[in-house]
Amino acid sequence: MAEHLASIFGTEKDRVNCPFYFKIGACRHGDRCSRLHNRPTISPTILMANMYQNPLLNAPLGPDGLPIRVDPKAAQEHFEDFYEDVFEELAQHGELENLNVCDNFADHMVGNVYAKFRDEDAAARALQALQGRYYDGRQIIIEFSPVTDFREATCRQYEENTCNRGGYCNFMHLKPIGRELRRKLFGRYHRRDRDRDRERSRSPRRDRDRDRDRDRDRRRSRSRDRARGRSRSRERGGGGGGGGDRRARETSEERRARIASWNMERDDRDGGGGPGGPPGPPPYGGGGGGYNPW
Ligand SMILES: [Zn+2]
Ligand SMILES: [Zn+2]
Repeated sequence: MAEHLASIFGTEKDRVNCPFYFKIGACRHGDRCSRLHNRPTISPTILMANMYQNPLLNAPLGPDGLPIRVDPKAAQEHFEDFYEDVFEELAQHGELENLNVCDNFADHMVGNVYAKFRDEDAAARALQALQGRYYDGRQIIIEFSPVTDFREATCRQYEENTCNRGGYCNFMHLKPIGRELRRKLFGRYHRRDRDRDRERSRSPRRDRDRDRDRDRDRRRSRSRDRARGRSRSRERGGGGGGGGDRRARETSEERRARIASWNMERDDRDGGGGPGGPPGPPPYGGGGGGYNPW
């Protein structure tokens, strides 16, 4: 009996537990669902509901009453800025295994951000740190999510470009990020994994060869970093092509400044009693830097 229950848990056959909540962490019936949504009290995964505001879905109407066309490339940049922002914010609390953003349109899934950490404690720290905070003028709605296997939750047809349910599909349609951004964000972990593996497989006989290889790798990666630093500074149109290290320091300073200014905003809000009017329009298309969404 117990075995039978285990085999149907969270499936369509399970009349008690909601399969959608179990697999996708979101169900269109919400709290009115006739089946149980077993909310985990701890999980490596956190969900920030409806957090990403897709400019394509929020485009203002033009004089003809139709949404103003958004350049797809600009929209992707908008998304990747958001993705990087959220990644860096969460990564302060521990190593991220996945960061997934839904491209679905239905209310219970639109803009959902799922972040899976390597361990539950990191997820708990992140949840605590983000609870009650605002991003882009909207309060972050955050909870532990039962989703730990994104392969189960993701729409395979969407990945093969053949999903005919479009944005209203009940499985996750995940917004892709560019390879370069993926490498930049998740690459830091892979490097560490490699180093760990090396340490583990160390044997005295081969130490010398390994050290030599490592030195060579380091030299290579340094020159790669230098080349990368150069091309980045060209892209940005800024002068002074510093190496990889310098750039990283600048970035963390920028981040600190962002967070400091966010804290100031929160103090204002907390002191001023109430959110004080609707937030301004999103920065999209504004072009001017200096806007801090946190
Ligand atoms: Zn449900
Ligand atoms: Zn689909």
